[in-house]
Amino acid sequence: MQVPFVDIRAQYQAVKTEILDAVNAVLEESVFVGGPRIKAFENAFGSLYGARNVVAVGNGTDAIYIALKMLGIGPGDEVITTAMSWISTSETITQTGATPVFVDVVPDTCTIDPGKIEEKITGKTKAILPVHLYGHMADMKKISALCRHHNLFLVEDCAQAHFSSHDNILAGMSGAAGTFSFYPSKNLGAFGDAGAIITADDDLARRMRMFANHGALVKHEHHMEGINSRLDTLQAAILQVKLRYIKQWTERRIEHANQYREQLSSVKKIRFPMVLPGYVHTYHLYVIQCAERDRLKKYLDDHGIQTAIHYPTALPNLPAYRHLGNSPSDFPVASRLQGEILSLPMYPELEKSQIDYVCERIHAFFKE
Ligand SMILES: *Cc1c(COP(=O)(O)O)cnc(C)c1O
Repeated sequence: MQVPFVDIRAQYQAVKTEILDAVNAVLEESVFVGGPRIKAFENAFGSLYGARNVVAVGNGTDAIYIALKMLGIGPGDEVITTAMSWISTSETITQTGATPVFVDVVPDTCTIDPGKIEEKITGKTKAILPVHLYGHMADMKKISALCRHHNLFLVEDCAQAHFSSHDNILAGMSGAAGTFSFYPSKNLGAFGDAGAIITADDDLARRMRMFANHGALVKHEHHMEGINSRLDTLQAAILQVKLRYIKQWTERRIEHANQYREQLSSVKKIRFPMVLPGYVHTYHLYVIQCAERDRLKKYLDDHGIQTAIHYPTALPNLPAYRHLGNSPSDFPVASRLQGEILSLPMYPELEKSQIDYVCERIHAFFKE
């Protein structure tokens, strides 16, 4: 049996006619940038999410950059973020001219350790940028309290956490802004690059919308210099179709996660993704921790099971951040986990029988 890590085509097949209708409608209208379909998607996403403002942008990386930049973050500032994420989280901090300050993670959820944030706050700190990695939220109660106490902006990177929640508060709703990616393999995925920012602050929303469109809300009325980071109309139409299914697709991810956990619970050498009390994990990724990670990965690969590593090098240990003078021992948890994490196949269309097979092979590996 072959088990791919993700299967984007399977999702397309499931909603093909609706997608083709939407794409066809856009082609017939031939409005490819802007137009009412952008607003329609923003409204649909906003009402499903309960977000007051949605600003659709070109991708999830720009979403972070635009939010930080329009909060006034720039040269001389520091932004505190997690040692474990995709590089977009930290490179966007640098893009504003500010400096990323990394904090180690908690081993249970691989999210930023709130107990290690305060020691990194200086007179230059302007914001905290937590990442709800893999689909489990960071501890927003503690992080929000720190932001209030130290008068810092809170921007949540929700690229992996559409509809994740803690005590019924959704990812992206606790701070100044929440940023999303609709990269094709994300829980809500376009057919190309796409992203959005949510915020309760109308003025921030207006400035972000302006900045993403060359500093203009109305053509030729440039109130500032900006960038070109707009959501394509085709992607908006596709995303609006997929939005109808996001709840049921998320349910499927949770069912798959439960199946993995039930069938693997007797394997003592694996640590499973934790779901802390009150949290809803949306399993963008199903990441186990295992000391024999590399051997297990090779074994599964030899048996037709694709896995992945998110991510093989913790951010502060990347060559891109050598200039910051960090050492792996400054981030003991993230530096250990980079050698132990393994992402198992996870996508809504995964079959029960495929998960049976993955679990069977994992049991076999630990018996050999
Ligand atoms: C995917 C991702 C991003 C970037 O999104 P793009 O749409 O690919 O630019 C940012 N942060 C995290 C944690 C991500 O997983």
